[in-house]
Amino acid sequence: MTRDADAHCVDPNPLRSPRGLRAFRRALLDWFDRGRRSFPWRDEPSEYRTVVSEFMLQQTRATTVLRHFDAFVARFPSFEALGRATDEEAMAAWSGLGYYRRARTLRAACETIAREHGGRLPRDPAALLALPGFGEYTAAAAGSIALGLPLAAFDGNVRRVVSRLFASDSGDRELKALSVELLDPARPGDWNQSVMELGATVCIPRAPRCDACPVRRWCAAAADGRPESYPPAKLRPAIVEVRETAVAVVREGKVLLVRRPEGGAFAGMWELPRADSRDRDDDALAPRRVLIDRTGLRGEGFREIGGTRAAFTHHRIRTTLHLCAPARGERPPEEGGGASRWFAIGELPGLAAGKAQKRLFEAIARALDEKKKSRSGG
Ligand code: SF4
Repeated sequence: MTRDADAHCVDPNPLRSPRGLRAFRRALLDWFDRGRRSFPWRDEPSEYRTVVSEFMLQQTRATTVLRHFDAFVARFPSFEALGRATDEEAMAAWSGLGYYRRARTLRAACETIAREHGGRLPRDPAALLALPGFGEYTAAAAGSIALGLPLAAFDGNVRRVVSRLFASDSGDRELKALSVELLDPARPGDWNQSVMELGATVCIPRAPRCDACPVRRWCAAAADGRPESYPPAKLRPAIVEVRETAVAVVREGKVLLVRRPEGGAFAGMWELPRADSRDRDDDALAPRRVLIDRTGLRGEGFREIGGTRAAFTHHRIRTTLHLCAPARGERPPEEGGGASRWFAIGELPGLAAGKAQKRLFEAIARALDEKKKSRSGG
């Protein structure tokens, strides 16, 4: 039988026979051993580095994580070091990775690991799951990779690969159960990484590279000739266009920032006083009104100095940025900690703030710079 003919002559459920399953596992692990991608958390593994990388990789691409991982673990080299940090320090070091809630929960997990588990990951899966920020996926990934626990990690890549291998349009519960059956109990960490690596590099969402796939002969979707039909597409909510107004009130070279409330996106991080069209009428987006609503200041000399556009999963946000000064005789809000604070322009890049906010900070610095130059006639 030619290789091609063999590829299309698939037994019903070959992965369900012990022999077929053994051969399948061997083929995938051999492929992984031959060509696994090099990452700092793989090349120099430790319990701490595995946990940090898994938190970073949850919602961020590996290429982006690569740019930030070494600096983060150099700044905080152990569970104890990160556990001792403040939320703000952890979020500032997380800058550029997005979804900042992860920095806070990772810090809290490290504090628990240092305090309650002597600075080591607990060996009990239930204790892993009880750590802050450890959902089923993170507990399985960290537990299998760092500790060798036989736990199957199930993420979007695994879901796609399993759905295609079995040509199954079942829901996550069934696919997760199948991924548990496939798990190689002798090398669970490498197994999980090999399935995810296959999903990230070969069994990709569009135009999977079946010709280069090490497990093609076991794949029901490839045998059908319709691999892209699996898994069935989930209905996506429509993208919402959002208009936003942000105001930079500047006094003696300092900008007033407000802290985001606990519980929502970017919780506890600093931002310019702002409002958006999701919960406000057009009048409430006028810069003067935004400033009063968020800080109690009236402000004067408003002028638009630019803006940004940002895309999130379900929103596209267009922000206009306005500069002003506190109104004459107006008493600015208290300095110090709490809900609002004045920051020197030079402090802004190091703050725990989202990427879109940082772009606005840069626009403020440029505008003030130009103002200074035009005053000095430069
Ligand atoms: Fe994915 Fe194609 Fe490999 Fe099947 S043969 S697992 S569809 S890349």
